[in-house]
Formats: sequence, C-alpha cells, structure tokens
Amino acid sequence: STSLEQADPEIAAAIKGELGRQRHEIELIASENIVSRAVLEAQGSVLTNKYAEGYPAARYYGGCEFVDVVENLAIDRAKKLFGANFANVQPNSGSQMNQAVFLALLQPGDTFMGLDLAAGGHLTHGATVNMSGKWFKPAHYTVRREDQIIDMDAVAKQAEEVKPKLIIAGGSAYSRAWDFKRFREIADSVGAYFMVDMAHFAGLVAGGAHDSPVPHAHVVTTTTHKSLRGPRGGLILTNDEVLAKKFNSAIFPGLQGGPLMHVIAAKAVAFAEALQPEFKVYAKNVVENAKALAETLRGHGFDIVSGGTDNHLMLVDLRPKGLKGNVSEKALVRAGITCNKNGIPFDPEKPFVTSGIRLGTPAATTRGFGVAEFQQVGGMIAEVLNAIAQSADGTAPTVESAIKQRVKELTDRFPVYP
Ligand code: PLP
Repeated sequence: STSLEQADPEIAAAIKGELGRQRHEIELIASENIVSRAVLEAQGSVLTNKYAEGYPAARYYGGCEFVDVVENLAIDRAKKLFGANFANVQPNSGSQMNQAVFLALLQPGDTFMGLDLAAGGHLTHGATVNMSGKWFKPAHYTVRREDQIIDMDAVAKQAEEVKPKLIIAGGSAYSRAWDFKRFREIADSVGAYFMVDMAHFAGLVAGGAHDSPVPHAHVVTTTTHKSLRGPRGGLILTNDEVLAKKFNSAIFPGLQGGPLMHVIAAKAVAFAEALQPEFKVYAKNVVENAKALAETLRGHGFDIVSGGTDNHLMLVDLRPKGLKGNVSEKALVRAGITCNKNGIPFDPEKPFVTSGIRLGTPAATTRGFGVAEFQQVGGMIAEVLNAIAQSADGTAPTVESAIKQRVKELTDRFPVYP
C-alpha cells in the first residue's frame, strides 16, 4: 500500500498546508470546528468502500452486517443525545436534510415561513437562488429594526396572513436564543408544521447550553459539523412516527442513493463524544467565550448586532469604524484571524461588500481558548481593524504582521492535532 504522500504528492502537500493553516490561524468562522482524531479516523476508514442503500436490516445490498451496526449505533446515540424518538443519520449535508423535510411535508408552490437570509436565515430557508425559494413560496419574517431581535408578535401576525404550511426557526447568523414554545403555538394556531434547523447551535443543545427544540418541533434538522463537532453531514430528528417514515423515504430513495457509511460512523463517534460530561463544559465555555469576545469588541467601539449574543456567534457591525466586511475579512485573514464577511440586518451594502463580519467561538474553544484568550483575540481584532480604518487602501502591513506573530505565539500554546 502506497501512502498518500507517495501516491499523490500534490494533494498530500495541500492537506499538509491546510493542517498548518488550522494550527496557526485563529479560526473564528462560526460554522467550523476541529473534530477529534477518532472522528477523523472513522471518516477515513474502509467504510467508504461500502454500498448500503436502504436502512439497517432493510438494505438493497449484501454484506451490510457491519455497516448496520454502525448506523444503528449512530441512530441510538443521536436519539439519546437529543431526547428524540426517531433519527435519520443519512443526510449527506445540511442542505439535503432540509430538502428532505420540504419533500416530505410540502408540495411545490406551498407557502412556508423562515427567517430572512438578510437577517441571519439560511439559503435553504427560501433564498430566491435556492430550490426552497424557486419551487416553494417563502414568506420571510425578519428582526426588528430597533433591537435586531425577532419580533414574535410580527411572526404571529404574518402567519395569520400568509397561512404557511411550514414554519422554520433557526439560521446561520442569529445570535439570540429562539423561543421555540411560542413558534409552536403560532404554528398550531394556523395548522402549520414547525421545523427547527438547529445546525448552528446543535452543540449547545447537546451540551445543555441552549434550550432544546425537540419537545416543541414536529421536526428538528441539524448539521453534524459546526458546534456539534462531528463530520460534515446532516441529521433529522422527530418524535412522530408517521413523520419519521416520511423523512426516511424522502432521504432514501427520495433524494439520495447510497449513504456515506464512513461519515455515518464518524457521526456516531461524535455523538458519543457529545454524550460525555466534558461536552457540557465545552458548550458552556463556547457561550461564555462568545460573550467575552462580544464585550471586548464593544469595549473597543464596535457595535454587536442585537447588542450581544446568547449563543456561539455574533455579528459585528463595522459601521461605527467606517469599515466594510470585505476589506475587514481580508485584513484579519492576513493577520492570521479567519472569519467571514456577513451582511447585517438591513445592510446598506451589497452581499459581496457587507457592513459586518460574523465571528464564532466553537473552533477556538475546542483547542482550549478560554475567556482570557478570547479577550486577547478581541483586542487583536480591534488593533487590525482600527489600523485599516486609518489607512487609505484598507491594509496595514506593519500591524497585520505584528498581530500574525502574536497569533502564532497564542496558537502555539494551544496545539491542534499535536
Ligand atoms: N442550515 C443551516 C442553519 C446552516 O447554517 C447550514 C450551513 O451553513 C446548512 C443548513 C447547510 O449545511 P450544508 O452546508 O452542510 O449543506
């Protein structure tokens, strides 16, 4: 057997480069994390060779005795972790898990409600460029202008008006806690299904640092990467047996063929990790660290959308500094701090420019950063952004390279895959 390095030096070199990047940059992309070696090992295993269309004990292929064990363990652990009666661990991605819910519960042209992309919603919740927006009829709710928080009375009023078949809570850039109970009441009042896409904060739910949507929603979807710290992929949970059957058929054969058994094995490993007491501490730290980072940035004169955060992420409004998201993201990346530009609610700038950046704490918390380190990170972000705010061309090479050196020193103290 030939090693990757011998067989394909170009790919091996790129992977090595990526490992170096992950080691020496501070990862603040809110949807990323650093999985354990055990998760990597399961995902890089011989299970990738196996076809297993169908579900455990009901496959369309022979030789499934071991992958059945894997999938049953993944299902049982997911159910235990989130207190749900049914779990489908096969979605290849977050987008596909959400498509499966649409396929199972809606007909093309049906109206549904979701948080507006511009206010922190996700593409798959009805963006015009996404299938959810092209084939279905989205009615988006948004946040209040005054405090950038979802106005539940407005959601109720809109539901009354548009009579959706489905209401979705959850998003990609909303930093406040979700009122699942109220959402369910609204859904019930208009006869809609209630779905929660907890992709971003599932790790906090698993670790008890955010309310669980499972008792309130007809269906809960989540990615298994992000704050849950597993491999890339999706998961569908429900307590309703009839719906569970519909979601199973929607995933296979509705949308997918053979499940990615190596990824399902890695999901099972990640669920077991999230069931450990340490994961509760992790989830609590992710939230504490986010609050510390938000407070530090506020102290340096930045606005935080909605005034703060209840979860793992925040949107920084750069307008008090006269900065745009695109130049800020680039400068921070040059300084070794990775994040993404992000529109803020009612953003006057185009999506490729934006007035904000989105920051999240899951990845750096995994490597061991605590409140003190996040305060340092906040200080470094402020130094870089204050420096480029003073420059004519959006760069500040001296400050950027000084910060990069400090990032190196800090990251060396918290090694990744040592
Ligand atoms: N749902 C939410 C809320 C997300 O934030 C994302 C990813 O950004 C997805 C779904 C889609 O996940 P994936 O990128 O795996 O398709």
